[in-house]
Amino acid sequence: MTVAFDAFQGNACARDYIIKCLAVVDLTKNLAQQFDFAPPFDWNLLTAKSRRQNNFLTNKVHGLAWYDGDIPHACLTKVLKEKTDGVNMIYAKGDENTKFLQNLLGRPVYNLETLLTHMPKDKVSEISTKTGVITQRCAANHDHFDWTVSATSRANGCCFTRALRMAVVVREYNRMISTNQKLTINPQPASTSAARMPAGSEVYEEDDDEDDGDKNRVLDLLR
Ligand SMILES: [Zn+2]
Repeated sequence: MTVAFDAFQGNACARDYIIKCLAVVDLTKNLAQQFDFAPPFDWNLLTAKSRRQNNFLTNKVHGLAWYDGDIPHACLTKVLKEKTDGVNMIYAKGDENTKFLQNLLGRPVYNLETLLTHMPKDKVSEISTKTGVITQRCAANHDHFDWTVSATSRANGCCFTRALRMAVVVREYNRMISTNQKLTINPQPASTSAARMPAGSEVYEEDDDEDDGDKNRVLDLLR
């Protein structure tokens, strides 16, 4: 399963995520779902710093408004647990997002970025092409971007799109390891140091950086 979210910032710190939209893709059931949460409290209760940051997120990052969404925010953990209970592996993108979800769920969540790091160049290139054509959006209103935001950033602003793209990466990764018995890559959950692969399992380790362009491209598409 892949999980992505669009969030605002709470008052505690920059990583005090207040999830606004949550997207989950169940690869086994081939099911993509998205949930829009109402804010947990009134805008006026945010500090001036958080309000500034949240205006930035609305205008430049996801185009969502603080008061969008109608599922009570208190249901977030319940919804997330319900949707993830029966799945084997949960993937998120990036160390911070992964750790946040892992704390919320109380179970391992894997950082999808580590999968790409350990794939061969041609595979990453192939995945980049496949993720790039996915443009399906959720039903939430992402219209609050300001006029300076590029079309690419707007496209990456929807967590539903990102979760679908992430599912492509996981699906390709699973296909790759199931057809290549030499590979024994096992992703590590976020609680271990930076969710790295175990030493000695890196069959596809590259000794140059030429493939960084492709990998960065996929990561950009996933954002
Ligand atoms: Zn969306």
